[in-house]
Formats: sequence, structure tokens, C-alpha cells
Amino acid sequence: MTRDKIQALINEFCDNSPLNYLGAKGASEEDVLANNYAKHNLYHRGITADMLGADEDSGLMGMRFFQRPIFAIARADDPGFKEIQRPEVVGPHHLLPEDWLSGAKSVISFFLPYERATVEANKKDPVEPAIEWIYTRVDGQRFLLALGAKIRDALIEAGYRAVAPYCDDRYIMQVNRNAAPGTEHVPPFSTNWSERHVAVVTGLGTFGMSTNFISKAGCAGRLVSVVTDWETEPDERDYDHWLGYCNSCGACVRRCPAQAHYTDRHGKDHEKCGAFIRKVCEKFAPRYGCGKCQSGVPCEYKPMRAKG
Ligand code: SF4
Ligand code: SF4
Repeated sequence: MTRDKIQALINEFCDNSPLNYLGAKGASEEDVLANNYAKHNLYHRGITADMLGADEDSGLMGMRFFQRPIFAIARADDPGFKEIQRPEVVGPHHLLPEDWLSGAKSVISFFLPYERATVEANKKDPVEPAIEWIYTRVDGQRFLLALGAKIRDALIEAGYRAVAPYCDDRYIMQVNRNAAPGTEHVPPFSTNWSERHVAVVTGLGTFGMSTNFISKAGCAGRLVSVVTDWETEPDERDYDHWLGYCNSCGACVRRCPAQAHYTDRHGKDHEKCGAFIRKVCEKFAPRYGCGKCQSGVPCEYKPMRAKG
């Protein structure tokens, strides 16, 4: 395996996989179960195959979800992964690369930028998310997970071992206070594999004020990662703290229709943000999303630099 091969694979998959384009209504049950998609459809757990896709006359058919991804690689024993386990970062419930895969050598984080037209559409209304945004969030998630699985499987085919945590049965994300049986060790609004924290360690980008992730291609996009025993030279981080790509301009805070951000420190009230997204889901079920803090902001397409 080489970096060039990974880049070629993700470019080809992004351009040619039907999962990166909105199809006609009605997927197959297999599609919904693939890569734990239904399990990880967090604000609408009861998603079924007939809910996916668009009506022929919606004008959205064939819409592309993501631009070509970028990626960065960390050594699996990078001390940053232990840092994530500190209680003030994520906590001891956050798994290490070695927990996902014994003998892990590398962690690869991928950032998939949303199509520009989707980001531009989401700037128009100050409260309601653009229809393109919520389709990308929900229907497009199948492509996000499939991309993680694609790289995992390519590594396995090349003779390595690999796991895509987001697609794995062991992955846990809590989006409210009602933990499913067996997942109580992961606190509310937390996860045992935070794609954003992991991506910071790999060198792909940093957090922003609203806890969004600002990659080298901006903050309007999604993340997925792969843990593997393939070994290569890691990327260098061109920032020295968790907020290195945020200039604290406050635009994301002002954009938030739920006033979910703290005014005295970085970060947001996940309960408020989640309540707003649930309201969106009531109206647009099975779709949901918001992303006002990831669109119409200076860091939407590029990183900023920390002040001072
Ligand atoms: S909008 Fe401004 S404050 Fe918010 S994450 Fe981007 S650079 Fe940081
Ligand atoms: S996703 Fe929406 S509700 Fe949540 S913090 Fe961002 S702007 Fe606010």
C-alpha cells in the first residue's frame, strides 16, 4: 500500500460510486444494513430502505454528496491518542488504536468536503437547513461509511489488517441521555472513537470554536478513519494546539439558530444542539441536520489561523 494508491482509490470511489450520488427512492435492506449504516443513523434509528433516495420529480436526483476526500496519517502509538483519554478531553472510555486492532501501526483520517453547491445552499435561510444539506447528512452517510470500508478492505486485500471503527459493531455514539443497554460506560453526548479528536492527532486539522472540525479543506464536511497495521511515515501537524485552525472570529457562534454555544469558553451545549436537530428531524424525517456553524463562516472552505 502507498499514499498514492490510497489517494487514487478514494478519488475513483468518490467520482464513480453510486453511493456518492442521490438515487431514486427505495434502496435495498442490504444497503441500509451495510457498514452499520442503520445503527449509526443517530437521530432517526428506525430508518428503512424505502425511506432512502429522492422522488424522481424532486429536482435532487443525481445530486453529488461529497468532493474528493483528503487524508492524513498518524502513528498508532502517537501520544495524542492517550491525550484523548484524559477526562477533560474525551475520557477513558475513548478507545486506543491498539484496542480496535492489536498490533496497529497507523491511523488514517479522511475528510470528505460537502459539495460547494450544498454549502452555498445552506447559507440562504438563517434557521432551516437546506434540503441538499440534510440529504447529504443522511443519505450521504452511506457513502461516508462505504469509503471507510473501501480503504479497510483494500488494506486487507494488500495483506494488512485493518478496521474502520465507524463501521464496526464496537463503535458507540451517545446523542442523548438514554444509553442503550451495554453502552452505559460511554457518557451522554460522547463516543468511544471521536473522529474529530482522532483527525487532530493525524494532522488533518483542528477544532473550531463551535467544536466543529476545521480541516485543510475547511469545516463543511464529514470524517471517517481506518486503523491498520500498515506502517508508513506519519504526517506532520502544522499546528500546536487543538484550536490551531480557528481564529476565534465568532461567526459560527452567531450563526447558530439554537444559541447552543457557551459565551464564556469554547464549545457548545450538546443538549441544545441536539434538541434543535431533533426538531429538524420531526419536520424532515428520516432526514436531519443543521450545519449553520459549518456554512456561511470564514473557515467553511479553508483553515484560519489562531490569533496571537
Ligand atoms: S467561524 Fe470563526 S470562530 Fe467559528 S470555527 Fe470558524 S474560525 Fe473559528
Ligand atoms: S449544528 Fe446547528 S444547532 Fe448545532 S451548534 Fe451548529 S449551528 Fe448550532
